Amino acid sequence: MDSMLGNLARWLRVLGYDTEYSRRARDRDVVGLALREDRVIVTRDLGLHRRAAKRNLRSIYIPPDVVEVADMLALVAEELGLGMKFDKGNTRCPQCNSRLNIVPKAQIAHLVPPEVLNRYDTFWYCEKCQKAYWQGRHWKTINDVIETVRSRLRGGAGGEPSH
Ligand SMILES: [Zn+2]
Repeated sequence: MDSMLGNLARWLRVLGYDTEYSRRARDRDVVGLALREDRVIVTRDLGLHRRAAKRNLRSIYIPPDVVEVADMLALVAEELGLGMKFDKGNTRCPQCNSRLNIVPKAQIAHLVPPEVLNRYDTFWYCEKCQKAYWQGRHWKTINDVIETVRSRLRGGAGGEPSH
């Protein structure tokens, strides 16, 4: 995953996909990482996309007219055959890509406002970022985006241009 796709990277992590993202990675480093760790490259850089293809790497090119995260997710999901479904047992930290575990409330009580603690039942904790996550007010947006992506995947056979 290269620069300008940070939002897409965060979404893929929430959906449980192991996603490295670098804002300033050089092409060489991106290709190297993809080779070493058997990763798919997702990029807005057509040059990088073509260089990756020459090395027989899987690469997904996101054209400049694809700007909505739902459209990007649909494109990636289609290319890779990913199911766009949130699984609370398989999700990653949107910031650092670590796997998240569901934790008891007591473990994150000091990180979360009391009203949030009362209102929600499921909390995740990232050890690396020392951050708690819950299905808060952003969650409606997340579900909406997932629903949009899934409906596009259902109806979008044939790769119709999205402009
Ligand atoms: Zn984290």
